[in-house]
Amino acid sequence: MTIQNNNEHEIKHNFIAGEWRNSSNHIQNINPSDTNDVIASYSIATKDDVEDAVLAAMSALPAWSSSTSGERFDILDAIGTEIIQRKDELGDLLAREEGKTLKEAVAEAHRAGSLFKFFAAEVYRSHTEGYRSLREGISLQVQREPIGVVAAITPWNFPLAIPAWKIAPALAYGNTVVFKPSELVCGSAWALAEIISRAGLPDGVFNLLMGQGSETGAAIVEHPNVAGVTFTGSSDIGRKIGASVFARGGKIQLEMGGKNPLIVLDDADLDKAVEYAINGAFFSCGQRCTASSRLIVTKNIHDSFVDAMSNRIELLRIGDARNPNTDIGPVVSEAQLKKNLEYLQIGLKDGAKQLTGGKQVEQATPGWYLSPALFIDAKSEMKICREEIFGPIAAVMPVNDYDEALNLANDSEFGLSAGIVTNDRLIIDHFIDNIQSGMVQINLPTAGMDFHAPITGRKNSSFGPPEKSSYCREFFTNTKVVHANYGKRLNSKKEES
Ligand code: NAD
Repeated sequence: MTIQNNNEHEIKHNFIAGEWRNSSNHIQNINPSDTNDVIASYSIATKDDVEDAVLAAMSALPAWSSSTSGERFDILDAIGTEIIQRKDELGDLLAREEGKTLKEAVAEAHRAGSLFKFFAAEVYRSHTEGYRSLREGISLQVQREPIGVVAAITPWNFPLAIPAWKIAPALAYGNTVVFKPSELVCGSAWALAEIISRAGLPDGVFNLLMGQGSETGAAIVEHPNVAGVTFTGSSDIGRKIGASVFARGGKIQLEMGGKNPLIVLDDADLDKAVEYAINGAFFSCGQRCTASSRLIVTKNIHDSFVDAMSNRIELLRIGDARNPNTDIGPVVSEAQLKKNLEYLQIGLKDGAKQLTGGKQVEQATPGWYLSPALFIDAKSEMKICREEIFGPIAAVMPVNDYDEALNLANDSEFGLSAGIVTNDRLIIDHFIDNIQSGMVQINLPTAGMDFHAPITGRKNSSFGPPEKSSYCREFFTNTKVVHANYGKRLNSKKEES
């Protein structure tokens, strides 16, 4: 990503109050598989744009929050249908801009469409609950109301799916939206916004503001008329945003980083354990919040696991994200590549052994290619086992038994996803109850959730209600408790006597 004033490339604008609006500064978006390929330029929203978007979202709120379920369903369903119909094209753009392989990118586009359809159906579910009052003749019910203007702040690693799982429920529950995508993936965000802009929403209900987090993002989350901020991104930024939104009385939903453990026990099926570890650690170039960056392996299977991992890593085909034969695309940006290379040095300095990978790889086109790296002999106190790297780098920690493995798995400031590979049912049950993570994967990779399941974490990985599924209603709505005395009832014996 570079920022420019003059631009010879196509420029795509922000969407504010139902209109596309240009800006004097632009973000130029570059293909990480081929850095000579400029995708397009995108307008950077100014403070005035933020002001106008929030004002438009506030003005649109009374009408949208009182729209019928049918109106909301039709719009959300139409958005989902178009995304799914255009999943190959959207997936290609996503792969070109973010570096995820084509297969993963098309699947993500499909998932984004499915999320809109899920939340279209959600508008028809009951959002009012009735209770029997303690008092004769009194009706008691809890109803849901939209919270107001919602800011959706999203990261670069799922540029279609994460915006979808914030924007769709926000609209379904009657809120209006200001969407600020990551500056690295404006192409996918713009394409999504363009689809939403044609779906029939009244002006101002949905707004797109592109730009950098420290400026455009900060102006949005600090705006006093933004009622709630749903943020996905790094833990440092999330905590900072959370503190400032909390201080002004706003609502917060934070999904943040992970350092996810995958435990492999002696009785595991070796081939399956290796496939889960390869998938979890290296697919999407390790750039998933649920990536398995800590592989905790018991002693009798350790050496054969490490050998098999090393052999399997050698077979992974690194290359252009849009080549259908590619297993591992490029790292998203030069800055992320630099960060990964620094962590490789830190790992060696701290005493871990780098078994394989971790090399910049030359391809036919210039790009940010890095071969998947595996450290062995890693210890829990090493930085590579404590800090989120967010790249194709995993570390194997040898342990004696399950108890030690569980202790190491829980020895982290994060608690997003965790997995175990074993056939021992008693251990599985113990693991489910005692692992400190929001998501648990049994004989599966740590990454890869059903689209309609909630996302949630513990410790520094999450704050506030879960995302996705009906659970996210806790963030996107406020509850109102109504006790009502409607007077004399026909069937009330006491009142009749
Ligand atoms: P990031 O924290 O750098 O940025 C996330 C978003 O916040 C971007 O849109 C950015 O522009 C914006 N932002 C940055 N500073 C801001 C500020 N001061 N005010 C307002 N907005 C600001 O994260 P990233 O590098 O884009 O994404 C990678 C991170 O996202 C990783 O830590 C990963 O674990 C996390 N992630 C978490 C989940 C989850 O569900 N838990 C899912 C995907 C990614």
